[in-house]
Amino acid sequence: MNIILFGPNGSGKGTQGAILREKFSVRRIETGVIFRENVSGSTDIGRRAKIFIDRGELVPDDITIPMIMNRIKNPNFKNGWLLDGFPRNLTQAEALGMDIEREGINLDFVIEIIIDRDTAKNRIMGRRLCASENSHPNNISIDAIRPVEKHGALFCHVCGCETLTIRADDQDEAAIDKRLSIYFDTKTGTLAAVNYFKARMKVFEVHSFSEVQETSEHMMELLSCS
Ligand code: AMP
Repeated sequence: MNIILFGPNGSGKGTQGAILREKFSVRRIETGVIFRENVSGSTDIGRRAKIFIDRGELVPDDITIPMIMNRIKNPNFKNGWLLDGFPRNLTQAEALGMDIEREGINLDFVIEIIIDRDTAKNRIMGRRLCASENSHPNNISIDAIRPVEKHGALFCHVCGCETLTIRADDQDEAAIDKRLSIYFDTKTGTLAAVNYFKARMKVFEVHSFSEVQETSEHMMELLSCS
């Protein structure tokens, strides 16, 4: 099973990707994670990519495309992959489309998580981290996981922990806007990549509900009806 998962920051793509990986027993290829590993390992790719990552820009295609295509063709991935974070622009989509056709690799599902830009931005900026257990989800923009407010202070809605922290990069509005602009660009950006596949095959549009489970049930229902 080979799958591409599209969705902007704040759409819950990470969580839905984990659910898909479990369900279909595929290996996940997360471009952002691969880049971060290369940066922390000071590899040649990491050194070349860091400057773009730090600026919130896409790493150039001549670095990104071969890095991902080599993985897809690697025998370790022959039982299936889930692409998360690639392709992120039209050039990458065209390169991927041509390569998998040439290699005879089947693409089973392309999934697009739908969320409007303002909601995505609010969700990113609304994230709060529970200091006692970071898997406790808290978000001031999502009713279902809104922290509890008492006397003007916020507490984890799961365990009641009094320390909720904010990730600095979740509050960097300029960087968030830059990344969302790349995603929502229909000419050459990520939505142009989505449209590349829409012109060639069925793309499953999954709505990002505020409840993770509602989104994943909607997604599985669509995929099982295909
Ligand atoms: P992410 O964790 O997916 O938000 O990715 C972190 C950073 O890695 C991005 O801001 C880009 O600088 C870089 N990156 C991730 N995926 C790609 C891609 N497909 N093409 C180019 N750069 C990417």
